[in-house]
Amino acid sequence: MTKYVYDFTEGDKEQKDLLGGKGANLAEMTNLGLPVPPGFTITTEACRVYLKNGESPDELAVQVTAAIRQVEEKMGKDLGDPKDPLLLSVRSGAKFSMPGMMETVLNIGLNDESVVGLAEQSGDDRFAWDSYRRLLQMFGKTVLHIEGEPFADALHALQDEKGYSGDPDMTTDDLKRLVTEFKTIIKDETGGDFPQDPRTQLDLAIEAVFNSWNTERAVIYRRREHIPADIGTAVNVQTMVFGNMGEGSGTGVCFTRDPSTGHSGVYGDYLEDAQGEDVVAGIRNTLPLSALEELDKKSYDELIAIMDRLETHYRDLCDIEFTVQRGKLWMLQTRIGKRTAAAAFRIADQLVDEKLITRDEAVTRVTGEQLTALLFPQFDKDAKKIDISRGMPASPGAAVGEIVMDNATAVERTKAGANVILVRRETNPDDLEGMVVAEGILTARGGKTSHAAVVARGMGRCCVVGADDLVIDESAGTMDVKSTGKQYKVGDVIAIDGASGEIFEGDVPVTDSPVTAYLTSGLEAGLEAAPDEGAKELVHAVDRILTHADSKRRMKVRANADSPEDAKAARDFGAEGIGLCRTEHMFLGERRKLVEEMILAKDAEAQAAALGKLLPHQREDFIGIFDAMDGLPVTVRLIDPPLHEFLPDLTQLSVDIAVKEAKGEEVTDEEYELLRAVRQNHEQNPMLGLRGVRLGLKIPGLIKLQVRAIAEAAAKLVKEGKDPQPEIMVPLVGAIREMQIVREMTEEVIAEVESETGVKLDIPIGNMIELPRAAISADTIATESDFFSFGTNDLTQTAWGFSRDDVEGAFFNEYFDYGIFGISPFESVDLGGVGPLVDIAVERGRNTKPDLKMGVCGEHGGDPHSVHFFEKVGLNYVSCSPFRVPIARLEAGRAAIDNETTYLTQFDPRN
Ligand code: PEP
Ligand code: MG
Repeated sequence: MTKYVYDFTEGDKEQKDLLGGKGANLAEMTNLGLPVPPGFTITTEACRVYLKNGESPDELAVQVTAAIRQVEEKMGKDLGDPKDPLLLSVRSGAKFSMPGMMETVLNIGLNDESVVGLAEQSGDDRFAWDSYRRLLQMFGKTVLHIEGEPFADALHALQDEKGYSGDPDMTTDDLKRLVTEFKTIIKDETGGDFPQDPRTQLDLAIEAVFNSWNTERAVIYRRREHIPADIGTAVNVQTMVFGNMGEGSGTGVCFTRDPSTGHSGVYGDYLEDAQGEDVVAGIRNTLPLSALEELDKKSYDELIAIMDRLETHYRDLCDIEFTVQRGKLWMLQTRIGKRTAAAAFRIADQLVDEKLITRDEAVTRVTGEQLTALLFPQFDKDAKKIDISRGMPASPGAAVGEIVMDNATAVERTKAGANVILVRRETNPDDLEGMVVAEGILTARGGKTSHAAVVARGMGRCCVVGADDLVIDESAGTMDVKSTGKQYKVGDVIAIDGASGEIFEGDVPVTDSPVTAYLTSGLEAGLEAAPDEGAKELVHAVDRILTHADSKRRMKVRANADSPEDAKAARDFGAEGIGLCRTEHMFLGERRKLVEEMILAKDAEAQAAALGKLLPHQREDFIGIFDAMDGLPVTVRLIDPPLHEFLPDLTQLSVDIAVKEAKGEEVTDEEYELLRAVRQNHEQNPMLGLRGVRLGLKIPGLIKLQVRAIAEAAAKLVKEGKDPQPEIMVPLVGAIREMQIVREMTEEVIAEVESETGVKLDIPIGNMIELPRAAISADTIATESDFFSFGTNDLTQTAWGFSRDDVEGAFFNEYFDYGIFGISPFESVDLGGVGPLVDIAVERGRNTKPDLKMGVCGEHGGDPHSVHFFEKVGLNYVSCSPFRVPIARLEAGRAAIDNETTYLTQFDPRN
C-alpha cells in the first residue's frame, strides 16, 4: 500500500519532494524536539493522484483516520468531541514556496455542538463563536467556492447597524447571529447545509487544497517562477493553536537575521491577539518582534533560543512563524528564509566569517539570478528629490512610474509603454498580475512579511509597504498624504526606493549599482561607488564569492560580441575570449548597398569587384575586435543569415514599382532587375534555406572575403607585436563534406595571406553544432573540425521544429498551461530533447578527437540553469552576452563545486 500520510515525527527536511517544504520542515522541527503542534502531512503524491483521477486514492481516507487517532492521542482530545473538541488546520505546502497562492482552512472540527465545548474549555464564549464564524467564512469561500462578498456584506451590515468601528467591538451575541447568517448564506449559495460532521469538513478541506494547486493565481505564479505544473502540493493537517485567545496570545513571523542586510539581530513582526493569517494579510499594522519581550518575556526568550538553534541547525537564515497561546509558545513553520539578492551575498559571506559554512558552500548559496538583480540601478543619491512620504523598505531597487491602482490599468498602461507603480491599500494574491508588470509596488498597510512584500521580494521587484501616512482610495483613484494634505492621482508619476522605503514625487534619476562598478572597474571602483556601509559590505561579499567561484570553475566564460565596444565591455566583465562574433551585423547600414551590389552582380568579375569594396571594411572590423581582445581567443563566425535579409523587402518593393507603373512613372531597368533578384532570393522558410555554410558553397567569394579579412587583420596586428587569436567558425554545418569544402577554401586563403604578409598564422577552423544531423554525425564532422560550438538557439529550433521568431508569442502560454514545459526551451536548455543532442555530440566528437575543444554560444550559455548542464556534459566554455558574463562565471563556479546539489535542488531538471 502506498504511504500517503506521514506523521510529523516520520519525515525530515530532505523530503521536500514528497512532503512539500512546509511539511518537511515541520517534521524536522518536531524531530528537533521543538514545540510543534502535532499533525501530519498528506504527500504531494496523493495530490498528483487526485488531480489525475479527480478523486483521492482509496487508501488515503484510511491512512488519514490512523493519523487523526495518533494526533488525538497526543492531544488527549477527539475530533468532534462536543465537550472538548480537537481542532485542526489544513494548509497547502508545495515543494517550492508559493506564498498566498493556495488555500488554508482553519478551525476544522467546529460545529453547532463543539462550539459550546470550545467555549467551556477556553472559558471564552466570544472566542469560540468567533472561531466558528471564521470557519464558516473560510470553508464557504475555499471549499464551497462562495464569493467572499456575501460574508463580508453580512459582517459589515451588522457592524454598521450597531455602529461598530471593527471586529473587536463585536459581542458574543453578534458573533452567534453571524454564525446563523453565514450558515444561511452557505445554504442559499450551495443548496446544502454546512457539514456538521468534522471528518467530512476535513476531507472536503483536503480536497480543496489539492484543487487550489490549479487556481488561476497559482498557475500564473508558477509560470513566473518556473515551478513545474505537475508536482502538486502536500497538505498539512495540524492541531490548531490560537493566537487570538485574548491577552497573552498573539502570532508572529520572524527571521534569524535581518533578511535585507544579513546582520544578526531580532527581526520580525508580532501581532497581539491575532491569528497567523492576519499578519500575512497585512490587514493590521504589526508590532516589531522586540515588543514581545515586554509583553511576554518567557515566550520571547524561548523563541530567541529556538531561533538560534534553528539557524545553527540549518546553517542559514531561517524564516519562522509562531503563535503564543496564553503564554505558551508554538512553532508553526520554518524554512530557509527568502531574502533579497544583496542579503543573499552578504549572508553567505557573513556565515563564512562566523564559520558556519565553508567558502565553497557560500558560492553555492547564491545564484546567477541574484547577481543579476544586483546589477540594477539605484536612485542617484545627489539628485534633488521631493519627498512624499515613507513606508517600510520591503524589496530593494529604484522604481519610477505612473500610479496605477488596479491590475487592468497596470497591464493596459505597461502595454502602452508606460512604467507603472502599483499603489494599493494592501495587496492580496489576486493582485499578482499587476505586480508582475509594475516597476514597483507601494502599499499603505502591512509589514515586511505581508503578501506584497513576500511576493515582491521573490520576484526581485522594488517594493515599499506599510506607508500608513497615505490614504489610498482605489475607487476614486486618489492617494492622499495625511501629513502634508497633498493629493496624488492615478497617472501621476512617483518614485519609490525599495531599499530605504522613501517615496518621491516625479521622475528621480537613477545611478548604476556599485556591484556593476565593481564588476567593470574592480574592487576600489565598486567600493567608491557604494553609497553606504551596507553597499560596501555587499561589494566585498560579491568580490569574495565571485573570486572564489572563479578559482573553482572548470569552464571558461566567453562573450558573444561583434564590435570592439562590446568586446571591451565583455572583457571588463571578466570574459576570457569571444565565443561568437556574428559577422552579419557588419554588413548592415551603409554597407548593405555593397552586399546588394554583390548579390546583383551579373558576372564573376562584377561580384569580385563588389567583394573587393567590402574587404577593407571587414578587415577594419576585425582589427578593432582582435585588438580589444588581444591575447584572448575570438571565434569569428562566417556569415550566417539568408542573403535576402540584405535585400529590400519583397512586398515593399513590389508595391513601390506597381505604384510607379500605375502612375505612369518610369521604372528603370535596375529597379526591375532588383525586383527580379529579390523574388529569386525569396524563401518560404528562410531559416531552413540558403544560409550558414550553404552560402559559402553557393557564393564562395563571400566567405573567402571574410577569411581574408580575418587573416589580414591578424597578420597586421602580429606585425605590430600584438597577439591576436582568431578562430574561424562555420555555421549550420550538417555534413562532413560541407565542412571539408569550406575548410579547403579557408586554408587556401590563409596560406595566401601568410605568403603575402610573411606572417605565420595559426587559425583553428571549427564549426557550430546547431542541427540535429550535426550532433548525430559529430564523430565524422570532428575529423574536419578543430572545435565545436553549440548553437543551441538553432539546435532548439530544429530539434523541436519551432520557428524561433514566431512560437514564443504564438502558443507557448498554452504549452506552459498544459505543462509541456515549464520554461521556454529557448531560454533554458530543454533537457529532455536538446540536451541529449548536445550530450551525444560531445561524446561522439571526443570519440574522434579526445581533446576537441567545445563550447556553447546560443543564448543558453548565459542561463544559470543551462550552465549547470554544460558543466555536466563537459564543455570547455560557455559564451553569452557581455552583461551575463559575471552570472555565467558564478554559475560555472557553483556547478564545479557542487553540480548535483545546486542543479538538482534549485532547478527541476525534468523537462
Ligand atoms: C545559435 O543558433 O545558437 C547561434 C548562436 O546562432 P544564431 O543565434 O546567430 O543563429
Ligand atoms: Mg544559429
